[in-house]
This record gives sequence, C-alpha cells and structure tokens, in this order.
Amino acid sequence: MSTEQQGTGAPRAATAPTAAAPAGGPPEPLNPPSAPLGAPAAPPAGATVLRGVGVSAGQAAGPVARLSEPAGEPASARLGDDVDVEAEAARIAEAAAEVSAALKASAATVEGERRELLETTAQMASDRSLLRSAAKKVTTDRLPAARATWEAAGEVADKFRALGGYMAERARDVADVRDRLIAVLTGAPVPGVPQRDEPFVLVARDLAPADTALLDPARVRAIVTVEGGPTSHTAILARALGIPAVVGVTDAAALTEGRVVLVDGAAGTIDLAPDEAAVRRAAERAAQVRTFAGSGQTADGHPVALLANVGDPAGARAAADAGAEGVGLFRTEFCFLDRGQEPSVEEQVTAYRTVLAAFPGRKVVIRTLDAGADKPMPFVTDTQEANPALGVRGLRTARRAPEVLEHQLEAIAQAAAAESADVWVMAPMIATVPETEEFVASCARHGLTTAGVMVEVPSAALLAGPILARAAFASIGTNDLTQYAMAADRMLGSLAELSTSWQPAVLRLVEETCRGGAQQSRPVGVCGEAASDPALAVVLVGLGVSSLSMTPRALADVAAVLGATDLQRCRELARAAVDAESAEAARAAVRAGLPVLTELGL
Ligand code: PEP
Ligand code: MG
Repeated sequence: MSTEQQGTGAPRAATAPTAAAPAGGPPEPLNPPSAPLGAPAAPPAGATVLRGVGVSAGQAAGPVARLSEPAGEPASARLGDDVDVEAEAARIAEAAAEVSAALKASAATVEGERRELLETTAQMASDRSLLRSAAKKVTTDRLPAARATWEAAGEVADKFRALGGYMAERARDVADVRDRLIAVLTGAPVPGVPQRDEPFVLVARDLAPADTALLDPARVRAIVTVEGGPTSHTAILARALGIPAVVGVTDAAALTEGRVVLVDGAAGTIDLAPDEAAVRRAAERAAQVRTFAGSGQTADGHPVALLANVGDPAGARAAADAGAEGVGLFRTEFCFLDRGQEPSVEEQVTAYRTVLAAFPGRKVVIRTLDAGADKPMPFVTDTQEANPALGVRGLRTARRAPEVLEHQLEAIAQAAAAESADVWVMAPMIATVPETEEFVASCARHGLTTAGVMVEVPSAALLAGPILARAAFASIGTNDLTQYAMAADRMLGSLAELSTSWQPAVLRLVEETCRGGAQQSRPVGVCGEAASDPALAVVLVGLGVSSLSMTPRALADVAAVLGATDLQRCRELARAAVDAESAEAARAAVRAGLPVLTELGL
C-alpha cells in the first residue's frame, strides 16, 4: 500500500461576491450538528486497495495501460576511432527535426493552452543551444549521439532548476524532449500515452506536460501516477478535463498492464479487484453528463454564485460556454509571462477587453499581477531570493516597481470603461491593513471602486475584520492559504498530504475570514482549488462563503451537490470539518454526511 488516503486537495479557484453584502446576507454563526455524521465507508473486506492522493473527483474502471517509459540513461562509452563524428553529430539535428515535427503535428490537433504547450515543447526540441551543445559533445568528447543528448539536456535542466519556481518546472519539459530525442536516436519506442481503441486507466510515474496536453477524456478513463501533488500539472489538467485522478501512488507497480481496476479520484483509492457490479456502476455514472444551468444555490434556495477561474481569453470563452455566472478569478499573468519587460498599457487593454467581452453585464474579478515565487518575472522579481515564496511576490512587487501596478490599473480601468462587464479588482498576497488601504486608494485613483483583497496569507485571514473595513470584498486563495498555513510548498508532491484545504487549520482560517466579512457586511468568496471539490464547496458555503470560483469543468458537479444540500446541513458539515482533528477526519465526516456524492459518483 502506498500513502495515506487523502482528500481531493485541489489547487486553484477564486471568488467574487456581489456588491456590498454577500448573497443572502452575512453568514450566521455555525450551529452544532443536528444529525450524526457517521464514519467513512471502509473498503470491502478482502479487497486490495492502493492509496494515494485523490486530486480529481469521480470514479472510473478500466484496464490498466501503462505510459511507455523512456529508455533511460544511455551508456557513456566513447565512439571508436573509425566512427565519423560529424555524421554522428548530424543525427542529433535530424532527430530534433523529427521530434519537433511530430509535436507540431500533435499541436495542430488541439486548441488553446494545450496547443501552446505542445508548440513550446516542439520549440524546445529544436532549441539551438541544446543541439549545439549535444553536437559538440559528439565531435569533441566522442560521445555517441544519444549519450551526448542526455548530458547536454541534463545541463540545461540543471540551469532551469537553479532558477527555481516556474522556471524550474521547465526542467520537466527538457527531460521530456531529451527522452523523445533519445528514443529516435536509438530506435526505441517514443515515450508517451498509449494509443488504444478501448478506453483505459492510464498509469505512469509522472506525466510530461506534452503527454497531458494530448489526453483524450474519451479514451483515458482515469489517471494514476506515482509522483505529483495536488497542484501538479497532471492534477490541474485532470480536473480541467474531468478525468478522475490519483497521484502519489507509490505502489503503482501492482498496476500491471491489462488488469481491470476501479479508481476513486475523491477517495484517492485504486481497487485492484473490483466486483462486476462496481465496474458497471462506475461506467453508468461516467456516462451521465451533468450540465450547469447557470445559477448556483443550495437545496433551500440560498444563492451561491458559481464563477470561473480564467487564465486567458480562450479560457474566458470556454467559461462562458460552460455557463459560469461570471469570472471569480482572472489571472492576468498570461499577459506578462515569458517577457523581458512589462507589456504596454495598450496591449493589456486589448487582452483584458477580450476576457471582459465574454461576460457582458456579468461580474469579472481581475487579479492584479501575481509575479514572484512560482512565476518569476525579470522586471519585478529578484530571482536570487533564497525563499521566493516568502519573498517579494504578489502585491509586494509594487514596492520595487510601483509603475507596473499603476500601468496595470490604468489598463484595467480603460478596459472596464470600454466593456459592459461588472469589473472588480483584487490584489494577491495582501498581508496587512496598510497594504489594503494603499491598494484600495490606488484603485480609487483610477476610478476602480470595487477593490478587494485575496486572502492567501494567514495574517490576512486573522485580520479580515479590519481589512474588510477598507476593502469591498475578499476572495480566499486556498492554494496559497494552505501553503502558508501548513508551511508546505504547494509544488512538492512529497508533502501532498499537508497541502490539502481539508486541513482543519486551513478551514479555521476560512471561518475567521468569513467572520470578518460578516462583521463588515462584505462578501467573501473562494477562488482556490478547494472550491472545485464538491464536498469542500459545501463546507465553504457552510462557513459563510458567498461565491465559489473554479475550473469550468467543475461547475456542474459543485452545482449538483450544493443543489441537493440545504444551508443548515452545509453549516452542520462545516462545523464537523472545522472541529475535526485531521484532514482525513474532516473529509471523512463530511463525505459520510453527503450521500448525494455517492449517488452522483463523486
Ligand atoms: C490561490 O492561491 O488559491 C490562488 C487562487 O492563486 P494562485 O493559485 O494563482 O496562486
Ligand atoms: Mg495564490
């Protein structure tokens, strides 16, 4: 067996409330539970169950298909004197052209972010400095082409890792490109998602971004990986595609090719010997397509705005198509990433307008630039900081480069004036009352009157009362709030069991934020991944959250579970979760009190 059973410790989502008061008025104090909440169902006796971290809810059964593994490190023997090193070196460029062309062809079959991802990997495969360095190792050190590629790619990956954060993730892409090049050079099968006619459960050590970009939900019923955490690329994509997923399954060796297994992406389990009825039920549930009718509420009619997290214009269109009531978190970083300097105001206005245009008359909460930590940007961050997650990130970058925030607020104001969306603005990483005052004042100078804060730092949660006396609203970023409350790097798979918003300490901070919101009659939403877990969504609503913002794919499931649960029950379950002594106990108590989850296969 591998790691302990864990909750769907999701990563991102945001919120945004309405005008001055939360929908349905300020939250009331929580009541003690009126009904027993029961214990989690134990796995059937005799069943062999692997455990990992559930990161994308849902159940699915199918035969295991293992991702073809890369060939590994080539031998380092030198080339004999009779070998033409120039011809050997030339093979690297030929292999690169082949890999790059294959990736570009795959890119042409998909859209948006997935296409960009594949195009980026294709570019990396033909990166001149990588190819030059590998060729030199052949001609100078007389290494075979495959070995030279291995070493040259290793050096590039080390440089990315040394940069840390977002750049460090590039090391994974370099390794992927390296493995593809070596496969072509040695005639081995190119690593990747197996091509099958029948749907399957994909099992892998880890998925490269280029693999995830090509996942077809019609073929891949569930994903199981040995590595990765709740905020890993695999987890985020699995949620976006609605594929049940469990990561951190250290015992995945038991998942042999062709074996039929049942994956529960909420419980984080893989049943190695599911009975036929369970397999049939999973298939029936997977066939049910839920849609979101466009307005969130509890069973007794308490409104909860269900909004979307959006990262670029294509995401905004997808969110509108999925029926999102608005945008609870518009991450503006896409406009700034991979650039040596900030984009012009005009460029920003154009980009923001495209997103606003997808939601005429609807609320769109724009987050100002969240640079630093996992998203270093040369014009505002210092990549030499020893602890970038605790450094100059989020709003703090305005201390170093106030003009970048000023230009962005100017662009947001112009975009808002040109479109009909109801624009709210919020700052990431607010930690103090004076920071709030300054941000609200800056927004006001640009005519942006609905200015709020993200609650991502525990100090902001504890000071929610005075902060919300100044700000119009708060949106809790549970990804960072969990990271900082638990002192667990959100990117670290090995700490995944700490990085879940089911941790009662995190829920208490959410409760404290809602208390501050209620005192000031200000709406509090959630825009971290916690909002996309239907069971956690119930808890958040019970704690007083008035809007939930999530990946569009999660809207229908969250709406269905909320729609089957009345507000009083939400409060009881919230109380049980907050009073629990561990994340597992909190999650188990809530799930046991929500039979609708099982009915819906969640
Ligand atoms: C969060 O921290 O929960 C959040 C929504 O922001 P991001 O994931 O972009 O840091
Ligand atoms: Mg954050």
